[in-house]
Amino acid sequence: MAKRPNPRAIKAARTYTVEEAAVALRVSIGTIRTWVKSGLPLMNSRRPFLILGDALRSFLEDRAKASKAPLREDQLYCFTCKTSRTPMGMMVDCIPQTVKTARLLGLCDVCGGTCNRMISRAKIDQFSEIFCVAFKEGQCA
Ligand SMILES: [Zn+2]
Repeated sequence: MAKRPNPRAIKAARTYTVEEAAVALRVSIGTIRTWVKSGLPLMNSRRPFLILGDALRSFLEDRAKASKAPLREDQLYCFTCKTSRTPMGMMVDCIPQTVKTARLLGLCDVCGGTCNRMISRAKIDQFSEIFCVAFKEGQCA
């Protein structure tokens, strides 16, 4: 698993281009673009698009906080409750994401919202013993 990017590698007072941010954090440019899509603020009024060091830092710190609560085997992460929850009826859908990963989707037993967990496809059998898994697209196993 990739090492978590260190927010302290970023200087709060300066601005970064996407390329500079990627170099400073030792991640790919694609990773930075994914972060922008998932909420990292980009100053895109003119080129080159810049990222404020301060914004980048807080983005990374928020992400680290969100992933801090470790999930138990029988839990997914609820986007609404922003914490780990067991899925309603222990029922989840398994949706393949990549050759190696799949997403488990269920309904939060507290708020009824969507909860989610990325798993390694190698562990699908293991999770099938815990959850009632419905396989989507028929290529999950
Ligand atoms: Zn919830």
